[in-house]
Amino acid sequence: MKSPIRVRFAPSPTGKLHVGGARTALFNWAYARGRGGQFLLRIEDTDPERSTKEFETAILEGLRWLGIDWDEGPDVGGPHAPYHQRLRIERHREYATRLHVLGRSYRCFCSRERLDELSKAQEAAKQRLAYDGLCRRLPQAESDRRAADEPFVTRFAVPEGETRFFDHVRGECVFQNAEVEDWVMVRSDGNPTYNFVVVCDDIDMEITHVFRGEEHLVNTPKQVLLYKAFEAKVPEFGHLPLMLGTDKKKLSKRTGDTALQDYRDKGYPKAAIVNFLCLQGWAIDGERVVFSVDELVQRFDIKDVQKAGAIFDLDKFVWLAGEYIRHEPLETLAANCAPFVLQAGLMSVADIDARREWWLSIVAAERERLRTYADLVGRMQYLFAPDVDLAWDAAGEAAARKHENRVATLSGFQAWLAERAKAGYDPVKVRDEAKQWVAAQGWKIPQLFQPLRLALSGQMGGPDVFDMIGWLGVERSLARIADAARRLL
Ligand code: GLU
Repeated sequence: MKSPIRVRFAPSPTGKLHVGGARTALFNWAYARGRGGQFLLRIEDTDPERSTKEFETAILEGLRWLGIDWDEGPDVGGPHAPYHQRLRIERHREYATRLHVLGRSYRCFCSRERLDELSKAQEAAKQRLAYDGLCRRLPQAESDRRAADEPFVTRFAVPEGETRFFDHVRGECVFQNAEVEDWVMVRSDGNPTYNFVVVCDDIDMEITHVFRGEEHLVNTPKQVLLYKAFEAKVPEFGHLPLMLGTDKKKLSKRTGDTALQDYRDKGYPKAAIVNFLCLQGWAIDGERVVFSVDELVQRFDIKDVQKAGAIFDLDKFVWLAGEYIRHEPLETLAANCAPFVLQAGLMSVADIDARREWWLSIVAAERERLRTYADLVGRMQYLFAPDVDLAWDAAGEAAARKHENRVATLSGFQAWLAERAKAGYDPVKVRDEAKQWVAAQGWKIPQLFQPLRLALSGQMGGPDVFDMIGWLGVERSLARIADAARRLL
């Protein structure tokens, strides 16, 4: 039997896909997919000034990139089309008329000036700022007469009493209707407001569960009252905790990128991004940190989402990204890194094909140090640079200079390697022999290897020096060693 669950993601195309939006989409999608329900995408483009087609395309692309698919939506259609809110305006007008006929809304002719005065007076009296209901008391005939030549907005007539709704994250919620003002449903230009259209569309699209960011919690009482006025079934809610920066303030550029696209462009593994976004309020059994998308779908339940604000800790994310990179099959990792290496102009597709072994051995050796696919670019740069600049790693250079006999060890090794390599170069064999030779010279390992590492790559951390010599080739390595010996004098 088809599951009755129908959830939706309803982004406004007024910006790039925010990480908070991506999490909302993931939770809704996982909830539907784990229960055989339906996941819908609705574009809330009613703000013509701020909504753009480019943002809409970018949002759809971002969702698809994350692996989210939808059963109904602007591009795939569905029984409740159109899925662009802007195109549903006639339907919204029908709903507004229905409410008017039911006597649950009224025209308000109050001028901007009057409303400003009212707010000022309420502020001075330390009262709650709310519309005072003046026009609610207008006789119908007078309202009809004035409507012919005066501008007006339509307000929802909030009834007396209290209202309840169920929130899977917060439990049973109760609010006093007196706390909700007679809010504007339709503006004076005839355009309905967000709180109105979102309910009309959710009723029409038979949405059963509304999971969205906590910033919408203030809207929920208004919306629940509207469902009741239409005698429609109120959906179950789930307000997802705010995402906070490490400074405990609303997530902003200060503590991390807020657009999903930025993480993708920086080369973070997709699976790590999905995993990390879901950790913003959820974890398997409340504690397991690393999980796959399949596990998310199988295990996600809205009732397990935490209420407290979620800290978007970039350090944790970077660690998680490294975990994913460590466990990726080598070929996949190499394929994921390749676009960044190509983009940086280090290699071409033909180079990668022609030097496959070489390329894969470098990816394998660098894997431990990568946190993003793009990190490989910086790690590999020394292989393509004409010369090594010792100042690439100032601390490394200072460390190498601490060894008194640095020039002697480098020059000695250069001569030894030149001789040894005549018999061919195999990093494993040469490594063993070199270690014995170094010991026979009475040197300590770092006395040679620190300056050598710097000479070859211009950086202290990195793969085994004998692998580096293999990748660079003996000749280039000897030249770099000679050059460094001169510069480290
Ligand atoms: N369009 C709203 C937003 O972008 C979402 C509305 C909702 O989920 O109810 O925040």
